[in-house]
Amino acid sequence: MNTVIDAPQPTVLPVAGSDAVFPVRRIYCIGRNYAAHAREMGGQPDRDPPFFFCKPADAAFAASGETPTDWPYPPRSTDVHHEIEMVAAIGRGGQDIAVADALDHVWGYGVGLDMTRRDLQAQMKALGRSWEIGKAFDHAAPISALRPAGEIGHPARGAIWLEVNGARRQAGDLSDMIWSVAEAVAELSRYFTLAPGDLLMTGTPAGVGAVARGDVLTGHVDGVGGLSIRVI
Ligand code: MN
Repeated sequence: MNTVIDAPQPTVLPVAGSDAVFPVRRIYCIGRNYAAHAREMGGQPDRDPPFFFCKPADAAFAASGETPTDWPYPPRSTDVHHEIEMVAAIGRGGQDIAVADALDHVWGYGVGLDMTRRDLQAQMKALGRSWEIGKAFDHAAPISALRPAGEIGHPARGAIWLEVNGARRQAGDLSDMIWSVAEAVAELSRYFTLAPGDLLMTGTPAGVGAVARGDVLTGHVDGVGGLSIRVI
């Protein structure tokens, strides 16, 4: 292809135990999907339809499961928060997907961090503006190696936690999700045509908080794996 500038390279994530990689097309995120986190953000947990926002594909940042991967503290913020989340990776696209069929569209899972410039997000909320600068910055989505559902199934219960410098900061259970992965995928597909390569960050349990340079963040989801980053 004769491109007028250098074509951008696709962002890819490693697949655990494989030389193959998962190419990222879009990153969707669901907001307030654990009741305790909805409360800590000043909202009411309920079954109103879930809401979604996006990060750019190249915000995906491959994070090791063992030796922490250096992660650069982003500019223009003094209040960058961690949000540990299970990530669902779409392998088959579609629109208006039924809840009963939705898991057939999920290729696999990973452990991710929805890193958030909370100060900028709060400023934008107060002004009624888009959250973009709070959520969609460079490296805003550290994600572990993915594991195929063919190996691990579709996790619906099990611990999800985050430690900062060895201290437990966030803890929950996948079964605490207000909207299950299947329900969230189905609802998302009513607004966007899903395609292979899409990721869905499925929301964070309570305990979000600020990170500082030098912190080591270690996250885990039972049956899925873990990730570790060092903030630099
Ligand atoms: Mn989040």
